[in-house]
Amino acid sequence: MMHCDFCGRNETEVRLLLPGLNACICSDCAERAHEVARDYLQQADKRAAGTINMAELPKPEQIKEFLDLYVIGQENAKRYLAVAVYNHYKRLTQNADEEVDIEKSNIIIVGPTGTGKTLLAKTIARMLKVPFAIVDATVLTEAGYVGEDIESLLTRLLAACDYNVEQAQRGIVFIDEIDKIARKGDNPSITRDVSGEGVQQGLLKLLEGSVVNVPPQGGRKHPEQKMIAVDTKNILFICGGAFEGIEQKIAQRLNTHVVGYGVSNHISQLERERLLHFVAPQDLRSYGLIPEIIGRLPILTNLEPLDRDALRRILTEPKNAITKQYVKLLEMDGVELVIDDDVLDFVVDKAIEYKLGARGLRSIFETIMMDVMYTVPSAKVKKYRLTRDYASQQLERANFEALSKAQ
Ligand code: ADP
Repeated sequence: MMHCDFCGRNETEVRLLLPGLNACICSDCAERAHEVARDYLQQADKRAAGTINMAELPKPEQIKEFLDLYVIGQENAKRYLAVAVYNHYKRLTQNADEEVDIEKSNIIIVGPTGTGKTLLAKTIARMLKVPFAIVDATVLTEAGYVGEDIESLLTRLLAACDYNVEQAQRGIVFIDEIDKIARKGDNPSITRDVSGEGVQQGLLKLLEGSVVNVPPQGGRKHPEQKMIAVDTKNILFICGGAFEGIEQKIAQRLNTHVVGYGVSNHISQLERERLLHFVAPQDLRSYGLIPEIIGRLPILTNLEPLDRDALRRILTEPKNAITKQYVKLLEMDGVELVIDDDVLDFVVDKAIEYKLGARGLRSIFETIMMDVMYTVPSAKVKKYRLTRDYASQQLERANFEALSKAQ
């Protein structure tokens, strides 16, 4: 009687016996062998992916060119990011015994909301050769309080690389809304500040580089779970925040040095934009970040507010621009979508009028296109031309103004 040469069971004891040249295998052993082989190959792939070859790395200029494909403007921030990421790779290829120890340069990006902080982070993640995670600082609270522990930052990073600790230890973490954990008020408070200084102290440990015990699932829901030790020494941190109102701090500081800067409570929009260029570590401190944190974020850069021209470019230029997406969607129905130029101006005008910024461009355009997307695919037309009149009529019909205010 034939039997499985792996487990020894005969053909009556197994569900399926697969004969080979000189041996047989049962379906159970075949499945098991498949699992073992898959795990082994995955591990081998991970090990191979973990090695970085300098010659193959994109140079800062190439990194910036890639960012240019998706992000409009923000030249300064792009350059800073490109250099920081490139240097991060360089550090990772360094041997421990080399004389000069390249220190990591964590970054902090200050800029109004909706101007591309998260977009920059996500775009850079697309081309990275190291694991990357985006986390929102607003969910973090001090250990023992409702919310997520600081360590959960690392849980995300681990999850991004299938819990490969080696790789996570070389990864990059983008912490959004870092301004939300600023200390409220200028004076350190004696009472515990759940969402502020305590969280900053916790974060400091990670930024400085230390071995942290990370719960694999995040949170404290599973006290029995085994912790994973992660060394944060080589993890690059990029922080972003709107720091609303920081212009006041910058103006106050400049006023003490520069003659002619009036500190009024009401700073004009133009002045606001200009002031942000001058953002310096002291301003972050006045805003409520503790000096130790600021010291660990040596690269400070800012994002520009998006003007009309930038908004218009965002509609058409990025690789995944919203208008390009709609052209593609209709192309799949065999319909050529032609968008009149003044439709674009109209969409930009509305985004500005309703104070929706770049985020609003998408929702406005989608509202305009809704009916077209519904009817055109079955209308047997080869071409559809989107006009300004139609766009404006559609927005009115959808009562967009009321909708956008309700948001
Ligand atoms: P935040 O600065 O608040 O993180 P986001 O990066 O999330 O802003 O931007 C919101 C959306 O607005 C993005 O998904 C993108 O569609 C658009 N956007 C914002 N800034 C830019 C930009 N500079 N270039 C292209 N699109 C942008």
